[in-house]
Amino acid sequence: MSDQPHRPPSVDVLARELGQTFALPHSVLVDCARRAIVSSPSTASETAHVYAREFSNALQVDVINATGVLLHSNLGRAPLPNFPQHRATNVEFNMDSGERGSRQKSVSQLVTILTGAEKAIVVNNNAAALVLVLSALAHEKDVVVSRGESVEIGGGFRIPDVMEQSGARLVDVGTTNKTRFKDYEKAVHSKKNEVALIMKIHPSNFSLEGFTESTSVQQLQSLSVPIVADIGSGLLDNSCPWLQGHLPHVPTWLAQEPAAKQTLADGAALVTFSGDKLLGGPQCGVIAGRADLVDACAQHPLMRALRPSAQTLMWLQTTLLSYCEKSVCVEIPFWFMLSQSVSSLHERATSIVSTASFGAVTPLISVAGAGSAPGSELESWGIEVAGDARERLRAHVVPVIARTVAGKTLLDLRSVHPADDHIIVEALQQLSQT
Ligand SMILES: *Cc1c(COP(=O)(O)O)cnc(C)c1O
Repeated sequence: MSDQPHRPPSVDVLARELGQTFALPHSVLVDCARRAIVSSPSTASETAHVYAREFSNALQVDVINATGVLLHSNLGRAPLPNFPQHRATNVEFNMDSGERGSRQKSVSQLVTILTGAEKAIVVNNNAAALVLVLSALAHEKDVVVSRGESVEIGGGFRIPDVMEQSGARLVDVGTTNKTRFKDYEKAVHSKKNEVALIMKIHPSNFSLEGFTESTSVQQLQSLSVPIVADIGSGLLDNSCPWLQGHLPHVPTWLAQEPAAKQTLADGAALVTFSGDKLLGGPQCGVIAGRADLVDACAQHPLMRALRPSAQTLMWLQTTLLSYCEKSVCVEIPFWFMLSQSVSSLHERATSIVSTASFGAVTPLISVAGAGSAPGSELESWGIEVAGDARERLRAHVVPVIARTVAGKTLLDLRSVHPADDHIIVEALQQLSQT
């Protein structure tokens, strides 16, 4: 009897055992049990728990962003307010005629009002916007780009590769640190090939300093080639009228950020930008500017593959309406966080520490994030805890994401909505007991 090999448990028994620890659907637990029995029959129970934990941790859940990075690319960038989702929408239904309508019309009109563009369309993200613009307007034609702007945006998304994929020919001009008007002029007038576009790309995630020179959209206007400016962040207007009454002045880094309204006024034929960076809306990409160019993009076969969902458009519409109503700092979570006064953050930190009887109030520096201008720093307050508590904070019922610096864990309150302060209190109380 003692020589009997250890028999693996049945799938059903193991799945039931997992059910005592994990609130997951039975079919998921059965899958974990089955895979564990196959891969490691002698330690099936332990392995099945590992699989179930891995599954659980991979589920998308709400978390508290206490990192102080307001637009955290790993935490979904701009947070969104909730929507009732159980009803149908008139996304492609014309309410006048009762027939098929355009899913793009309302957001196009709003972008027009807010930026001075003639027309706009929305796709899934800014990377898609670039692919569409190049495919629709520059297929087998030349596109002039400064060597200082031929960048990798992130996640391996590189401008030269996108050009190639779209069938456009990249014409590099200038040098890494200096590109003058003359460089663009020479390329445009070379007459070798047809130059379809000049592209200006905002190097969002790095800055060139020192012996540098670049040429502005305004200067390039005289070349009579449509200029497409990828402004990246989706700041609509760099005078930020919506901050009036909320902040004493527009922070320098925002005033210097290229914005849709000013870039179009300077003579760009099109701008492209993300919806979920400084705009503060859902993940999407916007192409705005000259109507004939926007129409050419809209009519390209790729458009159908890149079109956004009804929910995305609804979220974007709500975001853009907030800009029209000047209620940006109240209704758009990113701008709400950005416009919180330093004193209100200090008050919240003090109250949290005294309620939790744990941690210490500490001054911090938050950043806008999502590749916004270097120097996008904001004074903040938060809570400091000794040691690295990140893992334990992630294990809280509502996971709290924090950072560590020099052996301390820091929770920045600027990126936490005040309605979630009680969760920070509970997480700190739990820390104090472990
Ligand atoms: C962020 C960024 C992109 C990519 O935008 P996604 O919406 O993430 O696809 C492209 N260009 C610039 C300049 C950016 O800053």
